[in-house]
Amino acid sequence: MTTFDIINPATEELIRSIELVDVEATDDAIAKAVVAQKRWAATAPASRAQVLRSFARIVANHNEELAQIEVANAGHPIGQARWEAQNVANVLEYYAAAPERLIGEQIPVEGGVNVTFHEAVGVVGIITPWNFPMPIAAWGFAPALAAGCAVVLKPAEWTPLTAIRIAELALEAGLPENLLTVLPGKGSVVGNRFVTHPDVRKVVFTGSTATGKTIMRGCAEQVKTLTLELGGKNANIVFADSDLEKAAAAAPAGVFDNAGQDCCSRSRILVEKSVYEKFMELFEPAVKAFQVGDPANDDTEMGPLVAKAHLDKVTGYVDDESLVAFRGSAPSGPGFWFPPTVLTPERTHRTVHEEIFGPVVTVLPFEDEADALALANDTEYGLSGSIWTRDIGRALRVSRGVEAGNLSVNSHSSVRYSTPFGGFKQSGLGREQGPDAPLAFTETKNVFFAQ
Ligand code: NAD
Repeated sequence: MTTFDIINPATEELIRSIELVDVEATDDAIAKAVVAQKRWAATAPASRAQVLRSFARIVANHNEELAQIEVANAGHPIGQARWEAQNVANVLEYYAAAPERLIGEQIPVEGGVNVTFHEAVGVVGIITPWNFPMPIAAWGFAPALAAGCAVVLKPAEWTPLTAIRIAELALEAGLPENLLTVLPGKGSVVGNRFVTHPDVRKVVFTGSTATGKTIMRGCAEQVKTLTLELGGKNANIVFADSDLEKAAAAAPAGVFDNAGQDCCSRSRILVEKSVYEKFMELFEPAVKAFQVGDPANDDTEMGPLVAKAHLDKVTGYVDDESLVAFRGSAPSGPGFWFPPTVLTPERTHRTVHEEIFGPVVTVLPFEDEADALALANDTEYGLSGSIWTRDIGRALRVSRGVEAGNLSVNSHSSVRYSTPFGGFKQSGLGREQGPDAPLAFTETKNVFFAQ
């Protein structure tokens, strides 16, 4: 039996060792899920809705417990972790309405009528990253269960603890056994088995673009349905006509929330040349005031990075001190700490193009609207971004011009469970969340009835 040590990233203490699931145990879980799914899909929609509501309630009632687990496991600030646990409850509640709303159509044609059915795809394999373990899992499993699917879920190796607890709560809420099975294990073992196993009919993957490409190649072998939520290198575009004080005050949270370990992190700030100096004057104190420290404290805004290996990766990007404009603070001593760091490199530098996935932001000046758009789109990614301006025409033009799936104007808000979320270009394939998400877990069947 192989085990994996789960480490608290703020203290470097061992939380516990987890037994890693192997291929045989994965196959066993999938076989049980196949049986459970058939029963679940045949259960009355109103009864499925009731179970999901009860699941939502029980998660809400365990908010503090789940949040504390995430503080220890992922180093998330407690306020943020409470929000994440509540998001799981909200998403379950939102999709509890879906079983009774998966409505087909009847289409009259010559000689009869066509009726369309939205049938659950079957067993869904969900593979999640370590950065937002709870919400990302729920954005997959809640609409999948609502659509009548069973779920096998592989959390990231570093952060499996909340998913394990949520699956226990699902059973307490009355979700039938084997409908939501959490399988902690290696990507190359459990995750890969979801891709190769013929009874897993859909894979939902959130993680790096490199792994997403491997999974996409694997799914091609069986023409398996796939949703990909991948990396981002998102632009925060600040125009001279914006409320500069607001833009500068909001910019640190836009990039340093979750220690920058956020696919939607606004990690490239683009500032119109005429206000560049002024923006930097306002931005510097805001970065220095960003509260980095013990994630268990209520006023902490940023905790440690998730693991030593990730700290080493982020550190490797800041190897040229001449590019550092200024830094925020970070604790010393045990823990995987890295201070908020602001770089002013050339446009071609790798820190402007590669996803660092840490608290590092580049700031570049731009000439005009066309230059801003060219810079914003000069990336293989297309996930999110922000536009700061008081000109509504410009807000509309630029938001239509940026090649990304989720934009916000005069805000850094990216994700709301009631709106569709996903990426353009190499940031992904398909959409999660929003009212249509359950449909992505169904096959549409058309039946012709002759008159
Ligand atoms: P990762 O690709 O290394 O791993 C993600 C998951 O895939 C893990 O559970 C891992 O075990 C598994 N995995 C690894 N190799 C696999 C394989 N060969 N087959 C099947 N599964 C495999 O990503 P990460 O480092 O955990 O997460 C960070 C990345 O996730 C960043 O690029 C970030 O932008 C992205 N992300 C995207 C979104 C989004 O919604 N677009 C959200 C969060 C994170």
